[in-house]
Amino acid sequence: MKIETLFTDRNGGSSLPPFDTLNIAMHTGDDTLSVERNRDLLKKKTGLKKLYFMEQVHKNRVCIIDETSPETTSSCDALVTDRPGSVLVVMVADCIPLLLYDEICGIAAAVHAGREGTLLNISTKCVDVMQKRFNSKAQDIRAKLGPSIHSCCYEVSKEIAETVTKRFGSGYMNGRYLDLQALNRDQLTAAGLKRENIEISGLCTCCNKNYFSYRREGVTGRFVGAIWINNRVL
Ligand SMILES: [Zn+2]
Repeated sequence: MKIETLFTDRNGGSSLPPFDTLNIAMHTGDDTLSVERNRDLLKKKTGLKKLYFMEQVHKNRVCIIDETSPETTSSCDALVTDRPGSVLVVMVADCIPLLLYDEICGIAAAVHAGREGTLLNISTKCVDVMQKRFNSKAQDIRAKLGPSIHSCCYEVSKEIAETVTKRFGSGYMNGRYLDLQALNRDQLTAAGLKRENIEISGLCTCCNKNYFSYRREGVTGRFVGAIWINNRVL
């Protein structure tokens, strides 16, 4: 099964400042019509009709998308599917848009891996669902970590820095600056993924103005990571 992935940036959409311009999220306070227009554009980019969103809550609930699923799944931070043609979407502005897939089994997942979800091991929980529910093997799973806030900009509180060091070791903190990508990478390899199957974008959303950044802007839009299984079998 061929699996496709896509990361958007903030350019090419209809929204006005501070959501300019390709904001995909309804909950930000942006004009609904502009967001709908932007979502239509995303639909066109994927070439498919059905997009699935999450009402993301910084926890670690993983939901399966099937024929009965609503367009937006409430209180959820990871979606998994084996259905070709369904586009799973994770919306972010600094958090890691993590896409997981197994082309042998034909399984795709979109994960919202922010700091809180990462501390709750959301990536490995999602790998677990892919294995137990869909018989995927960890060594066949590939991961893409999209543009997100990197340790150059990601200063956290003293308490969080201490929690990370205590629970995961000192390698993820540089003073008060957190390396969220390395933490997710190591959680994924601990779950059995091969290091060479994990791709990490070097783009920091807080440094790069082509992306929405909650840290840099506060009120802002959301860009996305999207993943889908192609309808045609190779
Ligand atoms: Zn940065």
